[in-house]
Amino acid sequence: MIILKFGGTSVGKPERLRKVGDLVLKTPGKKMVVLSALSGTTNTLVAIGDHLLAGRRAEAETEIVRLENHYQAYARDLFHSSEYHAIGQDIVSRYFSLIRLLAAGHFDDRSYRELLAQGELASTEFFYYHLRERGIDCRLLPALHFMSIDENQEPELEKISERLRALLPSMAKQEILITQGYICRNHRNEIDNLKRGGSDYTASLIGAAIQAEEVQIWTDIDGMHNNDPRVVKHTVPIAELTFDEASELAYFGAKILHPSTIVPAQKRGVPVRLKNTLAEEAPGTLISDRGTSGTVKAIAAKDGIIAINIKSSRMLLAYGFLREVFEVFERYKTPIDMISTSEVAVSVTIDDDRNLDAIVADLQRFGAITAERNQSIICVVGNKLAEREGVLNEVFGSLGTVPVRMVSFGGSLNNISILVDAGQKERALRLLNRGLFHLED
Ligand code: ASP
Ligand code: MG
Repeated sequence: MIILKFGGTSVGKPERLRKVGDLVLKTPGKKMVVLSALSGTTNTLVAIGDHLLAGRRAEAETEIVRLENHYQAYARDLFHSSEYHAIGQDIVSRYFSLIRLLAAGHFDDRSYRELLAQGELASTEFFYYHLRERGIDCRLLPALHFMSIDENQEPELEKISERLRALLPSMAKQEILITQGYICRNHRNEIDNLKRGGSDYTASLIGAAIQAEEVQIWTDIDGMHNNDPRVVKHTVPIAELTFDEASELAYFGAKILHPSTIVPAQKRGVPVRLKNTLAEEAPGTLISDRGTSGTVKAIAAKDGIIAINIKSSRMLLAYGFLREVFEVFERYKTPIDMISTSEVAVSVTIDDDRNLDAIVADLQRFGAITAERNQSIICVVGNKLAEREGVLNEVFGSLGTVPVRMVSFGGSLNNISILVDAGQKERALRLLNRGLFHLED
């Protein structure tokens, strides 16, 4: 079985949803289609939920009406026959009655999560009836019947796998199964979700759970690019990446993939392919455990980084010092990204500033502390990159006179991380594009 996931923009307009239908029909063999909500829906549902939690009922109702009108127009355009127009209107009125019912009752966190789930439930129903109108035999498999998270919000891969294996035999006849991305049940059996952008994660979890042949994530970019296309004009899609390379890139800012997405697929060795709905023939990016070594594959950058420097004479020839420093970050549940040390100082970076003041205050007892915001981590990624002869020379040679604040190299063989002032980021990405990929910027 192949898992095909389509995001919000791919289903956001009726003509795009029809295109998804064409693509699914063209894909040979048995497949499970995972859909996000229509683009903009989850944002609107969040806005409605926030209004309701704050007791702003009138504002919530305004947003509900706006969304309802949008869905009515969508349904009118999507279906052709009068029979299916009636079905379309029924879908819309069912979802909006439920949303209004939730809004009218005592609105708490649980109702909020139920509200958020309506986007994916509606989009999959639209798609199911759209295929039915085209005369295609398919099945809607509710994600709430098999997708679950435990009390730490972690997906329960084993249980998901067991449930799917029990459910799938009854759907042996249909080649096309449809399910919702993002939504799940929690340990209290309530409706919950895998956090924003979680539909990719759903696809990867299903792929891992049933040991699928492949997970395909369809978006509107032709795969992962070698550099940030928002900054650098000439970027190219990367044909193949290893799982490790892809996770580093996702974590360090490649927006195309949610960082946790590939974890389950990697665990079970299921390849993940990134494809473009607007250019089906383009090869996209294949992420798997095979892959070439020793080349620079891509560069990504992560903004909003804070560099904290701890200068302390106590560090000189002392042991146990770093442990005490790390304990401070542990106390505030703040992960450290980069670290570099000298005999009398240590610099670390964090991207979560929620407890910055408290962390800085706590660190004062070690010596002089400085915290600098507006930093960016630039990450050069490639499988076994560190073993490549002269790689540091290539990277720093390309960067020329860009001031580098910190460097992390050797922690993993697959990446070189460089900290620069946010103001230098664009220049650094352009210079690296020329120097490492011989591409214009
Ligand atoms: N609809 C959800 C969101 O917008 C999940 C997703 O699209 O991946 O976050
Ligand atoms: Mg999305």
